[in-house]
Amino acid sequence: MIQIKKKVSDVPEILKKQGKAEIALLKKMSKKDLLSYKYKSSLYGGKSVKDKLKSLQNEKCCFCEAKITVVSHGDVEHYRPKAGWIQKEKDKLSKPGYYWLAYDFDNLFLSCQICNQKYKKNYFPLEKSGKRANKHTDDIKLEKPLIIHPSKENPTKFLSFNKEVAIAKGNSEKGLETIKRTGLNRKEVMKDRFEYFEILETLADIARSNLPNAKKAKEQIKKKAQNDSIYSLMVKANFSDLICT
Ligand SMILES: [Zn+2]
Repeated sequence: MIQIKKKVSDVPEILKKQGKAEIALLKKMSKKDLLSYKYKSSLYGGKSVKDKLKSLQNEKCCFCEAKITVVSHGDVEHYRPKAGWIQKEKDKLSKPGYYWLAYDFDNLFLSCQICNQKYKKNYFPLEKSGKRANKHTDDIKLEKPLIIHPSKENPTKFLSFNKEVAIAKGNSEKGLETIKRTGLNRKEVMKDRFEYFEILETLADIARSNLPNAKKAKEQIKKKAQNDSIYSLMVKANFSDLICT
């Protein structure tokens, strides 16, 4: 997971116009109407929104940093769940959720289907659930979410890697909960990261040696630590000695 930079000018037209109008309607609805409202994936997941997110995220999942577009279309994920939230396991879904952020670009990210549908789902745990914004007039700034915000926070503050394993810096609750709720250490992604790590480790040995191709190996490692490369935080965390020099 790395920080995704979004600018005001990145907001797609469809969200500025139809999205904004739809939010205005939602804000006027009764709770009963909100519960039966059908969210419009043609708006939050429309082509222009998805294309913009793909470009801002270098076609990678906002959580696991795997390249999405090679094998699937990816999901447009709502950081704050639009239709209902869950604080902790076994809790029931609390509705209506963050309806006023359903078409808000700040709340939308591209995620792989596994991170979104199998792990994060409707989980949105807070440090204190009593501080939760339950309606649009409540202040979300009072919330202290336990899942890292992919653009407003820098994940490197909370997450690092030991080889292929994601770890929470200082064992923080936020780091641990993010790893758990986004499945960062699930078996399949760990295996993929490990296979990648092994190759990079060999490359790093060459880069640290006096062999003729050491310089080229170092350049390769640096390239793999760039934001457009898969698992870039893992690369940065493991090979910082080669990247910073
Ligand atoms: Zn993912």
